[in-house]
Amino acid sequence: RRLTKHFPVRRSVRALRRGERPVVHAVDDVSLTLRRGAVTAVVGESGSGKSTVARLLARLYPLTSGELLLGGTAVPLRGGRSFRAHCRRVQMIFQDPFGSLNPVHTVRYHLTRSLRVHGRAGKGAAETERALTELLGRVHLTPASRYLDVFPHELSGGQRQRVAIARAMAADPEVLLADEPVSMLDVSIRLGILNLLRDLRDRLDLAILYITHDIASARYFADETLVMYAGRMVEGGDSETVTQRPAHPYTQLLVASAPDPDRITGTGVDVPVGESDAHATPAGRDLLPADTGAPVDTEDPLSRDRGTGEPPSLISPPAGCRFHPRCPFAMERCRTELPPRFDLPEPGHWAACWLHAPTTGEGEATGADAA
Ligand code: SF4
Ligand code: MG
Repeated sequence: RRLTKHFPVRRSVRALRRGERPVVHAVDDVSLTLRRGAVTAVVGESGSGKSTVARLLARLYPLTSGELLLGGTAVPLRGGRSFRAHCRRVQMIFQDPFGSLNPVHTVRYHLTRSLRVHGRAGKGAAETERALTELLGRVHLTPASRYLDVFPHELSGGQRQRVAIARAMAADPEVLLADEPVSMLDVSIRLGILNLLRDLRDRLDLAILYITHDIASARYFADETLVMYAGRMVEGGDSETVTQRPAHPYTQLLVASAPDPDRITGTGVDVPVGESDAHATPAGRDLLPADTGAPVDTEDPLSRDRGTGEPPSLISPPAGCRFHPRCPFAMERCRTELPPRFDLPEPGHWAACWLHAPTTGEGEATGADAA
């Protein structure tokens, strides 16, 4: 609830003398709910604060303000016995399966250690062996004997990510925080990993947070999608609605500049789509710069859309709506007043944008047509 994270930045001696204490507003006033048996995606471009949200939920960073609840009770601070229990319940997997596995240890070591730390290794060697076999089976690395005594470098990227997932599952968690779990993998195996996570969600009733810059994969994989821009949540709702009828101009831009919004990036797998009635925005595909042969950062969908500007500085974020310097619909009040969440006609769908402020009467949203 209302999670906020500001990082202090290194400043010059002169700035210090002037008494300046600049901070990066990485995450501001973000509230979200993860539910068991559901995948919640947080979508945004590089630097939007989405990874920071995952790290805050795992308590890898202390909060500047806000509160974290798990099953209705406050999550304990780092250190201490009750925090260890929290660690078991909330596990994280990272973008880079090379970086998250220790190259000098075998798969057996990684998994056994996780089982031990969380008190699940069983009594004798035979019980541990059974637990290891079961874990590898869960992530479809079978037969276990083929994988247990190999080192990370002997595995493919996809197999490594499966080991990282197995290690997280060794804790028997309720919540899995997945920070861009497929973006560093070969495109041909991304879908397999997402399907595995979905399978785990169903079988173990997991709550999954899926961090991604790829809005098409959010549509494929997530039940609910939240969109982040410059440290704030700007839109949320069920994934189908958010990706097919985006209400916030930034989400519309994300959808319009996705390499192909109806496909999961690079997997070649079509996600069946209905008629997309995403609003045509001035920032849509037609404005994309002609292919100049210049290298494009494919990890960041907006990098190919230079016509609409760069993300703002988070040291001194724009006043009012943080998107206003890039927004084709910006109005006077957008420059000064922070838009609150406005409910939209579809249940659970909301957008933090003045275009959706009720125009008549109390609490009546104008709906997407206002755009
Ligand atoms: Fe654009 Fe204003 Fe909406 Fe922000 S609040 S997205 S600037 S219209
Ligand atoms: Mg990140």
